[in-house]
Amino acid sequence: MGHQIQHGVQYPGTESRAIPIASRLVVITACLAAIASLFYGGWETKVRSRGVVIATPSPALHATALPVPSPTPVPLSSAPSTPVPTPHPDPGVRIGIVAGHWASDASDTGAVCPDGLTEVEVNFEIARRVVKKLEELGYQADLLEEYDARLEEYRADALVSIHADSCETFPGATPPASGFKVASVVDSMVPEAEARLVACLSQCYAARTGMYFHANSITYDMLYYHNFYEIHDQTPAAIIEVGFLGNDRALLTEQPDLVAQGIVEGIVCFIAGQ
Ligand SMILES: [Zn+2]
Repeated sequence: MGHQIQHGVQYPGTESRAIPIASRLVVITACLAAIASLFYGGWETKVRSRGVVIATPSPALHATALPVPSPTPVPLSSAPSTPVPTPHPDPGVRIGIVAGHWASDASDTGAVCPDGLTEVEVNFEIARRVVKKLEELGYQADLLEEYDARLEEYRADALVSIHADSCETFPGATPPASGFKVASVVDSMVPEAEARLVACLSQCYAARTGMYFHANSITYDMLYYHNFYEIHDQTPAAIIEVGFLGNDRALLTEQPDLVAQGIVEGIVCFIAGQ
């Protein structure tokens, strides 16, 4: 029998806790300011020898307060002119969202916690919210399975695959097994766009969730993520590990709407910068 994915898990109150528009604009502005810092050294992009680019957050990224954004000290007046996202984006914009491990295989649930919580159900709850929010903003959004047939030569303005990390808590680990990471492949036809997508997702997700960028746990599976090689080479793509099922479980399962909002703001930041 196939594994039953609990798609219906609901957390009272989270669905209706809409983030006020003013607050959303503050975060997006902070995201854009952060992206401007890309050009001023506030964010390092490290190119690894094996052909993968990883965004490394500046120390300023490590905000602890939630959801207060931590804009980098780059004055906006000196930043490149970055258009402010409009409330009604171009409906021609298409975004693909992969719900990690979803429906790909009856036995593939991703990480599994001792009490049965699976990565796929966490990923799906977040991914479906991201798609809903993108559609509310006026974008076309595709909710995709891990091995969705549509991913072959998939063309879109961006593709983001949503995964979560281990349920192990790794007591005593330094830094603690907590936080998110974002990665993309560098040997693509759109390296500038992918670097910007990674930077937007990283900065906006950190600003919205208050989470740290856990760079030193980026894995081979992220760096050589199979869908990077399925999609059309002009589609900017990134994979985000939204947090650890172990130590970040409360945020991931009790506030999926907040988590989704951080991803949406990263995507809006990226599209606005095009
Ligand atoms: Zn996964």
